[in-house]
Order: sequence, then C-alpha cells, then structure tokens
Amino acid sequence: MIYDVAIIGAGVSGAATAWWLSHYELSTVLVEKAADVCFGVSKANSGIVHGGFHHPVSTLKARLEIRGNLMFERLQHELGFPFRRCGILVAAFSEEELATAHRLYEQGVANGVTGLEMCGRERMLALEPKLSGEVAGGLHAPNGGTVEPYRYVFSLVEAATRNGVELRCGTEVVHGERAGDFWRLTAADGRTMEARYVVNAAGLYADEVSRRFGAEEFAIHPRKGEEYLLDRASSGRPEHVIFPVPSKHSKGVLVIPTAEGTTMIGPTADPVEDKEDLETTSAHLKRILGLARGMVNGISQRDVITSFAGLRPVLDTEDFYIAPSAKVPAFIQVAGIQSPGLTASPAIGEYVKDLLKGEGLRLVEKARIEYDLASRHLARRESLETLEELHRENPAWTRIVCRCERISEAEIVEAVRHGHTTVDGVKFYTRAGMGRCQGGFCSARILKIISRESGIPLEELTKKGGGSRILAGKLGDLEVKGV
Ligand SMILES: Cc1cc2nc3c(=O)[nH]c(=O)nc-3n(C[C@H](O)[C@H](O)[C@H](O)COP(=O)(O)OP(=O)(O)OC[C@H]3O[C@@H](n4cnc5c(N)ncnc54)[C@H](O)[C@@H]3O)c2cc1C
Repeated sequence: MIYDVAIIGAGVSGAATAWWLSHYELSTVLVEKAADVCFGVSKANSGIVHGGFHHPVSTLKARLEIRGNLMFERLQHELGFPFRRCGILVAAFSEEELATAHRLYEQGVANGVTGLEMCGRERMLALEPKLSGEVAGGLHAPNGGTVEPYRYVFSLVEAATRNGVELRCGTEVVHGERAGDFWRLTAADGRTMEARYVVNAAGLYADEVSRRFGAEEFAIHPRKGEEYLLDRASSGRPEHVIFPVPSKHSKGVLVIPTAEGTTMIGPTADPVEDKEDLETTSAHLKRILGLARGMVNGISQRDVITSFAGLRPVLDTEDFYIAPSAKVPAFIQVAGIQSPGLTASPAIGEYVKDLLKGEGLRLVEKARIEYDLASRHLARRESLETLEELHRENPAWTRIVCRCERISEAEIVEAVRHGHTTVDGVKFYTRAGMGRCQGGFCSARILKIISRESGIPLEELTKKGGGSRILAGKLGDLEVKGV
C-alpha cells in the first residue's frame, strides 16, 4: 500500500497534523521512533498556551501562536483534554521593566490580540493576591492558559487514529529515497513503507531526517529548560501564569498553575550540545526558586516534588521553519518548533495541511468524523454517586492505585487498552505516579496491571521503551496483593 502522507514524529506538531489530515479521505501514517507518542520535546514543557504578545507578527511563530491559541476551546470541547484559560500576568518590578512590559503590550495590540491590559501595582495585586508586594505593575493577558501537554497529544492522536490514521510507534525512519512518484521510507529494523508526501516533524532530529531524505541542510540547536514541580498542596500556587519581563532568548522563569492543579516553576534556557542531555542540577533549582520567590509568595523548597528538563529545538533564525522543501519534491519541513510550539500546534497542523494541498495533495472532506473522547471518566473528578454507579459496573473504579493523584485501577487498565504499555505512557495518560510520592507507593501495582492487561512479562516492562527496563535480576517475590 502507498500512503498518501507519512508524518515523521508523533510530538505535538506531528499529532496535530495527523488530526487535521484525519478529516479528509486520505491514507495517513504517523511514524514515531519512541515506544509511545509524546515522548520527545512535547512531554517536557511548561504547558502554557501563550498570549500572542511575546513575538512580532512578522514571525511565523507569532502568527501560528495567535491562531493556535484561539483554537483551544473548540479542541478541548471535542477531545476533552485538561485546559484552563487562566490568564497571564507579566510582572514588572522596576520602571525599566514596566517599559518592557509596555512594549509587549504594544506588540500584542499590533498583533491583533484582544483583551490586553496594562496594570498598575494595585490592579496587579487585586488580580493576583499571591504576587510579591514589590511588584510595580505589569501586563494582563486574559487569553493565556495552561494545558496538560501529554493528554493533549494523546487526545489528538486518539482522535486521528479513530478517524483512520495509522500509528506506528517504535519505528525510526533512517532513510528516505524517491521511488518513481513516491517516497520509500526505510525504518531502523529494515521495514519499508511508501508515501506520496512526507512531513518531517521530527523535533530535535528534524535536521537529521532532512539530511536522510536529501533535503535541506540545517542544524537544530538544543536549548535546555529545567522545570521544577511543586506539590498540589503548595500555598504558592497563583491563579494566573506569572511571567517576569523577558530577555532576548527566553521568556524567563515563570510560576505556572498547571491545568491539573499542581504548580510548576521554571524553565531555564541554556544552550547544550547533546540532544539527549536532560539532567537537572541543584544549582539551577536554587536559582529558579530564588527567581520564583521574588515574584510569588508562598513558594517553598519543601514543596518541590520532582524536576525534569526539556530541550527546545532551535534554528539559527529563531523562527519556525514550516515549508515545502525547495530541494526535494513532496517533502514538508516542520522544523525549529521551539516555544510557542505547543500553543501554535493546532495552527501548525492546519498550516501543514494547507501546504500539502498547495503541493498537490487532493483533500476531500469526510462526511463523518468521530470524536466522543470528551466523556472519559476520572475517579478523582466523579461524585460519590457516579463512583458508586461505576463501581457497580466495574469494581476497579474504586480500587485507587495512585493515592496522591487518586487514579483508579480502571483508568490504568483503560490506558493499557489504548496502547500505552510503558510506565511513562501510563503515567502520562492517567497521571498515576505524578503526585507527591512520585510513584514510590504505586509503581509495583502499576507494573502488575500493565503486565496483566498487556500480556508483557513483568521483567520486560520498560519505563519508556528501548533499554529502559524497570526490573533487573531476580524478581524474587514481587507479588502485589489486591491487584
Ligand atoms: C522547557 C520547555 C518549555 C516549553 N514550554 C512551552 C510552553 O509553555 N508553551 C508552548 O507553546 N511551547 C513550549 N515549549 C515548546 C514546545 O514544547 C515544542 O515547541 C513542541 O513540543 C515541539 O513539538 P514537536 O512535535 O515539533 O517535537 P517533538 O515533541 O520532539 O516530536 C518529534 C518526535 O519525532 C520523533 N522522531 C525523531 N526522529 C525520528 C525518526 N527518525 N523517525 C521517527 N520518529 C522520529 C521523536 O521521537 C519525537 O517524538 C517548551 C519547550 C521546552 C523544551
């Protein structure tokens, strides 16, 4: 079979493109080298739906950010992922910073963003009582928000696959060549597939994929961002996303009320050489804590429950590079998708779909599209009455496996049945293991459930595929009661 389109990379850019293409009578394959979707840059970010004022509208990233931002309510309604339009405050602490905040305001207005407001000290404190009393004023952008990035990507992929897109995880594309009118893609295991069009949405590796297809030569430079997650009990959780005024390469260290009730502080922005360097350091934690505490009251080191890092895929131009290749036919580059890539993603997918059309792909809308993802039950959200009803149908709904996040066995089973068979896949799908104890109490039970439901022997289960096995050596008596 020859696919109409092969999308390389199941991060948010590839997932959004797949979702858009699933609306048309096409055969599309989404190819991902990792064991699950959203295991690249898209899993490790701040989860902010940006407000469209940080970059001038002359850049592609600003135009797609603004359009993407506007699409989130509709997407949430159709796909049911956690999203809150909580608003953004850019806090200024001096006259000079106020002038920068004012420049952002003017840029936002010039970009066509509505609702922006320059605020004095009193108004800032009224909007956000947790702000430091030292604040001099700032910018209020009510259109900003937060989204749970993994649930968002999983929902896009689930909707796309329900509507005919084929997903192939664990498939690294190592070579591409023209074979007549189409592309022949070769995977690391030697398997091949053929497609009329290829979309290169390979994140940090988009430069390598481009080279493997004989397309443009460019370099992706990783820029690391460390983030620290605070317990949901932290008294430092603000209502809005709190930004400082930005520097040339970074929006600065933020305080983020995540869409699922925790608080995050970060990220840093440091260039690194290694595309796999995800280390976090205590020196950065100290610096981030200092900066976050300078803006918001109530942030304590005692509330830090975990840290992680992500690498922004940055091009020399600092802009997105989304265009048909000028060197090879039927090949669309989706590269340099650094921040605000998450915000822009629904518009990136739409833009790529239009580029494909411009390159000759015939788009015939499907008569019927299936969603119905929004009605998923979550034990932590249900009333007692609903939980009782669910329990009558399936007692696994009231067997709470992850106590910190209140995730039931039924939800973990559902994750496995949706194809998530690594510990990280289940964690990102359900939030099991994301709370205060970071899986300390529930990991063994989760492993048992994944093994039971997937048929994969316990000792072969991995954290995130590849060589990341969880259990090594003799298993002894790993017998978990009650599962
Ligand atoms: C610290 C940090 C904070 C951020 N905060 C925000 C924010 O708050 N808001 C916002 O809008 N944006 C934010 N971003 C940016 C956003 O996360 C990225 O723009 C976005 O996730 C990029 O998605 P992607 O799909 O292009 O890349 P990825 O998510 O990396 O997806 C690419 C995929 O391609 C796969 N792949 C690579 N090579 C191959 C191959 N040869 N064959 C098959 N598959 C392959 C990879 O495994 C990967 O899964 C942040 C980024 C970082 C690092």
